Amino acid sequence: MPELGLIETLADEIRTCRKCELWRQRKNAVPGEGNLDVAVMLVGEAPGYWEDVKGRPFVGAAGKMLDEMLSKAGISRRDVYITNVVKCRPPENRDPLPSEIQTCTLYLDRQIKIIKPKFLVTLGRHAASYILAKAAIETEGITKIHGKIYEASLLGFRVFVVPMYHPAAALYKAKYQDELYKDFQLLKLRLERII
Ligand code: URA
Ligand code: SF4
Repeated sequence: MPELGLIETLADEIRTCRKCELWRQRKNAVPGEGNLDVAVMLVGEAPGYWEDVKGRPFVGAAGKMLDEMLSKAGISRRDVYITNVVKCRPPENRDPLPSEIQTCTLYLDRQIKIIKPKFLVTLGRHAASYILAKAAIETEGITKIHGKIYEASLLGFRVFVVPMYHPAAALYKAKYQDELYKDFQLLKLRLERII
């Protein structure tokens, strides 16, 4: 069981961080949340409006979609740890800049090292690009990789990387919603095999 103290100390560091310019406009940084003793870590892109207001990940419209997908697949929010590539909201929800991703992911790396998930689910292309590069996984481009599970070595331990569409994309396109649902079902099947 990972140590609660480590993740809490890290969360406090994130809440007071000023390493990139995104701290200036945030209401709250969003370190992440969930049980530490979990097999699955979900990594989104960055906080949006409601996440910034509440200081919690995936609590707005995309969060509702994510909750629906998890519960339809029979996975509880209690079975996952949820965080983002970048911990503070970019203005007007713009894409995080490469420099912001580079700076902020020192926190994501530390969270991964503490929690050591068996499955690392990336939601959307920013999380996928970062994690796949870090794990030295070669792919044919970000749109073709969802629905696949890559076994890799990341930060010194073995992990299954599971790229999925971002739940916000599923809000607007039924096709993405179907694909996301299928991918969560696949994850559930794989989870049942290991626990
Ligand atoms: N979108 C994300 O990528 N992360 C959140 O926490 C909320 C919306
Ligand atoms: Fe710090 Fe990350 Fe927030 Fe930038 S986005 S201020 S690096 S916590």
